[in-house]
Amino acid sequence: MSGREYQICTNCVMDTTDSMITFDEKGVCDHCRGYYTDILPNWHTDERGWQVLQETVAKIKKEGDGKDFDCIMGVSGGIDSSYLTYIAKEKLGLRPLLFHVDGGWNSQIAVNNIEKLVDNLGLDLYTEVIDWEEMRDLQLAFFKSGVSHIDLPQDHAFFATMYNFAEKYNIKYILTGANISTECVRNPLEWFYYGTDTIQIRDIHKKFGQRPLKNFPLSNIFRHKVYLRYVKGIEVVTPLNYVPYHKEEAMQFLVDQFGWQKYPQKHFESRFTKFYEGYWLPEKFGFDTRKVQFSSLILTKQMTREEALEKLSKLSYDQNTIAQDFEYIATKLGISVAELQGYMDAPNKTVSDYKSQETLFNIGSKVMTAFGLEKRMAKR
Ligand SMILES: [Zn+2]
Repeated sequence: MSGREYQICTNCVMDTTDSMITFDEKGVCDHCRGYYTDILPNWHTDERGWQVLQETVAKIKKEGDGKDFDCIMGVSGGIDSSYLTYIAKEKLGLRPLLFHVDGGWNSQIAVNNIEKLVDNLGLDLYTEVIDWEEMRDLQLAFFKSGVSHIDLPQDHAFFATMYNFAEKYNIKYILTGANISTECVRNPLEWFYYGTDTIQIRDIHKKFGQRPLKNFPLSNIFRHKVYLRYVKGIEVVTPLNYVPYHKEEAMQFLVDQFGWQKYPQKHFESRFTKFYEGYWLPEKFGFDTRKVQFSSLILTKQMTREEALEKLSKLSYDQNTIAQDFEYIATKLGISVAELQGYMDAPNKTVSDYKSQETLFNIGSKVMTAFGLEKRMAKR
């Protein structure tokens, strides 16, 4: 950030807007190197991966014997969780309970897509609605704080709710659509901070929030990474990493099979995230998440670098509708357009301007890696 000369990776489209990025003598970035050395050699979507997945599936089925469902699965209406739903039910023969967290920002497309999957695949859907007044208050607090990671309240609510549900109903397996194919390049920490940092959430809420968080789901990292995983035995499974998963083909398949609807960009199934990733983050902070998404697709051979550069040369939001979107967000948050604009113009802050568990997370991650508890996946 300190006047570093602009540089873009010669292999993907990550660049110095990620201030921690490093390049080798050929101009290839550390995201790419991490992919080729740590991820690719251990990623198998052929028969080998299928066998590994089958072993897990057998355990899940055994655990679910005699129960109404054998696992839960978060669905957002986006491609990853939608395709996972299809794979889990039709290919793996699982009986998942679909779990949806309504944070108040669902797009109509998201709602339609979830309905289509539920109806066509004959699955049950459980929807948990987050206390809107608390969500609104916490999101506003994040806007006021000036940090870049204002999507953290939504992120946190989504996974905390799911873990809480799994614990309450003694469900051992959570399936997620997290995947290497479209997410092998991770968002730099300075763009997207850990959604699990409850210290940061509480500190920002304490300073800028106006009502107590009574119903908002909070789950600290120790509870779900250590207690729930190793004491309660809740396991998170990522089936998309063991089967071929090509984003465009998967979308077209869902469109043809279920009348699923495409949406313009990853994560745009939430109206808040669309505004945040498409407009707020690039305009206010210079962080364009498309670079991360396209770089992942370049590495996994689903997009060429030229295609990505061409797309990046265009704005990440629609100039004709952005004023409307801006007004929609302000109105929904219960503030004026001028007030929201005020937060846009206010000085940018970082994680370290508030209390956080960042140091602890870094140590924790090293320990987990050292003990082989967590596979290294493109983490710095
Ligand atoms: Zn690269």
